[in-house]
Amino acid sequence: MRLLVTGGAGYVGSVSARTLMAAGHDVVVLDDLSRGHRAAVPDGAELIECNLLDLDSLTTALSGGFDGVLHCAAFALVGESVSQPELYWRNNITGSLNLLDAMRANGVKSLVFSSTCACYGEPEVVPIAEDCPTRPVNPYGESKLAVDRMITAEAAAHGLGAISLRYFNVAGASGPCGEDHEPETHLIPNILRAAQGRLTHVSIFGTDYPTPDGTAVRDYIHVEDLALAHQLALEKTTPGEHRILNLGNGNGFSVREVIEAARRVTGLEIPVVEAPRREGDPPMLVAASAKIRAELGWEPKHPELDSMIADAWAFATARPGGYSEPPAA
Ligand code: UDP
Repeated sequence: MRLLVTGGAGYVGSVSARTLMAAGHDVVVLDDLSRGHRAAVPDGAELIECNLLDLDSLTTALSGGFDGVLHCAAFALVGESVSQPELYWRNNITGSLNLLDAMRANGVKSLVFSSTCACYGEPEVVPIAEDCPTRPVNPYGESKLAVDRMITAEAAAHGLGAISLRYFNVAGASGPCGEDHEPETHLIPNILRAAQGRLTHVSIFGTDYPTPDGTAVRDYIHVEDLALAHQLALEKTTPGEHRILNLGNGNGFSVREVIEAARRVTGLEIPVVEAPRREGDPPMLVAASAKIRAELGWEPKHPELDSMIADAWAFATARPGGYSEPPAA
């Protein structure tokens, strides 16, 4: 298939683009490079520099005879969405509406959307299944839920075939593509920065959660397994149907367990400081993964936390300054 990957210069988008190309698809990346990195765009993929708010350019970009779109381009920082919600309404919601308009104008009939478990907010029941009530607790989650609803209506009204994948915690790296955000707020990259001495320590946000060791529990999924799910989803959309699938392994690891795994993998001490809870962080987010396994035939190949951290460590070691600096010799 000929596929457009929006946000293909970002972490998930770049790994997904590589995976799609390896599976034989023809991939064009569309990214405004505001948060993505030119160096992350896979070799052999054309890059169209375009912002989703520029509807005319977007419509032109989509005129290239595409069979489908993988839509990863979005702002994705919870804290920023609380302090500057307008960025999230405009970029994530208006940007996605523009994308649907441009797809419709060009007769592009298939979409896979990067959604998030933040749509569920603070669930009462864990593991979280797809029929869990959607009650986002921040504008980031609200913006993704709004787009999910937009896609449902688009499928019903205009015959789009779509699948939303609601991600849990993405981790690891894939060859030359890894996680490089500035500022970095995610646990595993920050642990590895502490291991490298780029941070004095990693903070543990909250030690009084109602979890076995008092720290928050998350479902970490290897970015290559996530990318594989995107490939399977793009190959399985059905016209007029919007399916929503949770994408996690179904295993939870606490912050302390992740730090222990990183000490094992790196062989380094990794200083930690216990800190108060971070606002808006639920105690436990773990996916029910039965639906995606049944409907897409998806099976994670790297469910072990140590292998995710080992791959993230390889990327952090190869690119100690991220994409903005040359790789280590
Ligand atoms: N966390 C932490 N220290 C950090 C970053 C994150 O203790 O430096 C915790 C955070 O409070 C959450 C978990 O690690 O419970 C995963 O956070 P992350 O930001 O990686 O992903 P999120 O679950 O917020 O999407």
